[in-house]
Amino acid sequence: MTRFARWPRAAAPIWPNRLSEGSGPCWLALLGLVVGLAAPSGLTEARAQDPAPSISGGDAALIDDIAIGSRILADFGVLDGFGHVSARDPTNPNHFLMSRSLAPALVTADDVMAFDLDGNALDARGWSVFLERFIHSEIYKARPDVIAVVHTHSPGVVPFTVSQAPLRAIYHNAAFLAAGAPVWDIRRDFGATDMLVRNPAIGQSLAQILGDKSVVLMRGHGDVAVGPSVRVAVFRAYYTDINAKLQSQALALGSEVNYLTPEEGAKADTINLIVLDRIWDLWKMRVAPTLAK
Ligand code: MN
Repeated sequence: MTRFARWPRAAAPIWPNRLSEGSGPCWLALLGLVVGLAAPSGLTEARAQDPAPSISGGDAALIDDIAIGSRILADFGVLDGFGHVSARDPTNPNHFLMSRSLAPALVTADDVMAFDLDGNALDARGWSVFLERFIHSEIYKARPDVIAVVHTHSPGVVPFTVSQAPLRAIYHNAAFLAAGAPVWDIRRDFGATDMLVRNPAIGQSLAQILGDKSVVLMRGHGDVAVGPSVRVAVFRAYYTDINAKLQSQALALGSEVNYLTPEEGAKADTINLIVLDRIWDLWKMRVAPTLAK
């Protein structure tokens, strides 16, 4: 059992009532809670009977990773008040999990909700949802291999979304960029807009330009990183930002830049994915105090 609640906040006030309905004395159940014993059967029952579970059968560790990944990227300044981290629902590939509309640094596990691949919230409970959730829904629809999606307004990357200089892998940590990072221009299909991916058609256009790559840049906006897990997608979002900053510095030196080749990138990416948990554990430790309740 982790420190994060697995049921919606709205259900919390139910506890005392449910506990008092139990056959055993109420104080025994409360004592169990205080000393941190296994959840009393009354509590388990309250969870099972809850009429509106936020995530039906969702994977707890995965939901934790969404909250932790959001805070890691906020901590690094890759995300600010905007941007989001999502994951495909392990129990239903036609659903995905993402927080309600909230600054990434504030996301907790119990803010995570489920959506279908048309971007409809399955249980909105009056919560507001991200306008740009169609980035996620349409990528999950187009890419069965994608398990997690991160959308950022990465300050390092934005210059590459508006210039003719392609973002390329400058070092091994960003090896996944050696396969290419296309730039999607919302104006191509939709003319003058507010630049937001605010409906499924725009999301579909973005997913098409992403193609089979790990990262797609969005002109005058930011980027999207995808991966086979939340950890990998967060790793890629972070190193896309760092790579962009380093590449800007390398280009500013004024001489020719020697990038990783696609072959080097593929080899280095394989190793990165193997050792990724080491850096994830470090990042998680840094943000853990912010998640303590
Ligand atoms: Mn955005």
